[in-house]
Amino acid sequence: PTEAGHVHQATDTHCPYCALQCGITLEPTPDAGEPVKLSGRNFETNGGALCRKGYSAARLLRHAERLDTPLLRHPDGGFSPIGWDEALDMVAQRAAGIRAKHGADAVAVFGAGGLTNEKAYQLGKFARLALGTSRIDYNGRFCMSSAATAGNRAFGLDRGLPFPLADLDGASMILMLGSNVADTMPPFVRHLEGARTSGGLVVVDPRRSATAELCANGAGWHLQPTPASDLQLLLGLAHVLLGESLVDHEYLARRTNGLGALRSSLAQWWPERVESATGVPAGEIRRTARALALAARAAKSGGGPVYILTGRGVEQHANGTDTTTAAINLALLLGLPGTTAGGFGTITGQGNGQGGREHGQKCDQLPGYRKITDPAHREHVAKVWGVAPETIPGPGVPATELLHTLGRERGARMLMVHGSNPALSSPDASRVIVGLRRLDFVVVCDFFLSETAAEAHLVLPVLQWAEEEGTMTNLEGRVLRRRAALEAPEMARNELWILAELARRLDSPGTFSPEAREVFEELRLASAGGLADYSGIDWDDLDAGAAVYWPCSPAQPVSREPGRRSGTPRLFLERFSHPDGRAVIVPVHHAALPEAAHQPGMVSLVTGRLLEHYQTGTQTRRVAELHAAAPEALLEIHPATALAHGIAEGQRVALANGRGRMVARARLTAGIRLDTVFLPFHFAGANNANLLTPALVDPLSAMPEFKHVPVSLYPLGDE
Ligand code: SF4
Repeated sequence: PTEAGHVHQATDTHCPYCALQCGITLEPTPDAGEPVKLSGRNFETNGGALCRKGYSAARLLRHAERLDTPLLRHPDGGFSPIGWDEALDMVAQRAAGIRAKHGADAVAVFGAGGLTNEKAYQLGKFARLALGTSRIDYNGRFCMSSAATAGNRAFGLDRGLPFPLADLDGASMILMLGSNVADTMPPFVRHLEGARTSGGLVVVDPRRSATAELCANGAGWHLQPTPASDLQLLLGLAHVLLGESLVDHEYLARRTNGLGALRSSLAQWWPERVESATGVPAGEIRRTARALALAARAAKSGGGPVYILTGRGVEQHANGTDTTTAAINLALLLGLPGTTAGGFGTITGQGNGQGGREHGQKCDQLPGYRKITDPAHREHVAKVWGVAPETIPGPGVPATELLHTLGRERGARMLMVHGSNPALSSPDASRVIVGLRRLDFVVVCDFFLSETAAEAHLVLPVLQWAEEEGTMTNLEGRVLRRRAALEAPEMARNELWILAELARRLDSPGTFSPEAREVFEELRLASAGGLADYSGIDWDDLDAGAAVYWPCSPAQPVSREPGRRSGTPRLFLERFSHPDGRAVIVPVHHAALPEAAHQPGMVSLVTGRLLEHYQTGTQTRRVAELHAAAPEALLEIHPATALAHGIAEGQRVALANGRGRMVARARLTAGIRLDTVFLPFHFAGANNANLLTPALVDPLSAMPEFKHVPVSLYPLGDE
């Protein structure tokens, strides 16, 4: 329905940003200055509402800084336009040359949780077949890897929300740990109303965030632990449940393994001890545990359900898997997961954070959540790809290791980056920037010159969300259609086409279609029988608006009837995904993090998101109204802490530690702990919070530590 960049008819699609994937409609516009009129559409997650980011998303489509031709860096550091044939020949030649000289693993690929399912799938296949490299990972490693590992360990399967989001609506109680949905995905808040009305919204956050504010006026309460003490808090809550015999004994006996070991692991975590570790009063710990038990018991007698939800605040730790596991253990003690009385879920952040981790972008996985080390899994995928299983390389290395070894011995010599900006988003980001400059060749696919693209030898302009076909999988595991509503700039290309052209030039085994629908059909086959099974999901059903949740095999009928859910909206109702059908309670233990000790005068830096910006801000910092509302990094700091450091409201402050130094402007707020400061991670240059974050990773998931970074504060003069 397109011509010359303008929409000819109304097109229903979804917001390009976060995992709520709010419904939007794009229509022709009489305004010649706008390519399209964008409005909120009534969809289950958003009920027609959008946040500021969503409402302004169309501003990016014909943005003045939009890349519209391949760009080659010349020796003086600037870029010059080149043609597509020349650009693609160059990528293929450099990849082949580097591979011949240094081995296949010298070429690495870095993907993203914002890519469509088809692009995520094709990127994993391209890396392993066309490049023959094991070195592929993606920015979701920095996002949900610990929650995914914890979900797999406990339930045998990781799906962010194992139930439809609307199930929250009637909740009597929600314990929300480390998530600030009121800022990051505002339409989510409507799903908290039931819990608020019942006085049962409990938010755990070192800041009195916009979400914590929702607990005011009797809607619930806010627990404010010191950063990186979430694990102890959760152990304390579980201690009270077990100590006061408030657990669901029948459920635990029938549906779980491991209770005995958990019991002994919790013995020492009595509330007064937890209070000294977390700063949360022992009385509040007891109150919360008892309220959860009471609500869970009532839920099983027809009361509103009870949910425990986690976000990045508790997951982005060097013990993130164990912390999330402790939250899952709490839900299991209450007898919630896999029932209609409530459950456990983790709130996915990136637009396709769910689908992005299912289709083979992870260094240790093949499509359908298959294990790259499992011979049967390799055989299945190899058959779909039309190659011998031994053609598929083994496991690679996770993101931080991949990015922090660039150009070093045993590190990559060439990097291909798709839809992400690791020069800003990686922990200890200056190491990544130095690494990028050491490489023989860097090629970045993006539609703006991100900070990573600015370091590239070659930049390839790609399509934006409203110009491409595909599917996305939202935070509920619901598969959605992304639809093309208007034409892209003449010289921009779909990444599927780019990968197909490169695969041809590299004489790759297998076939690489440039068409999203064809790739989706192949993805269905590759995922068939896997944990994330898409084989019963039909493109035309999705087109018609069917609500299909994976897993969905061909044996599961799909309904197109509005409001009817198909596939598996609610997981685990009969059994968990472990072979014996039972959930595993894994005892977890607190150990001090290597960097936990502060030098005198240091405070804990916590990083996070703002209402106005998304991820590294590559897109939202270019939207004038969002930039005007949040133009720079503000350092949230308690007035007493500011006073102790000689910092005034609005003053520029340097934050420093052994890794680096960054600058932000002070914003005094009594809503943050005295020992804590907060920075958004959306900003670049000296404003980049990740100049300070460590390459300290969770041993189980390789999640870096983003939520507890000791820093020193230095007030600066005005400039
Ligand atoms: Fe909805 Fe998220 Fe888009 Fe905001 S950014 S409109 S919450 S999908």
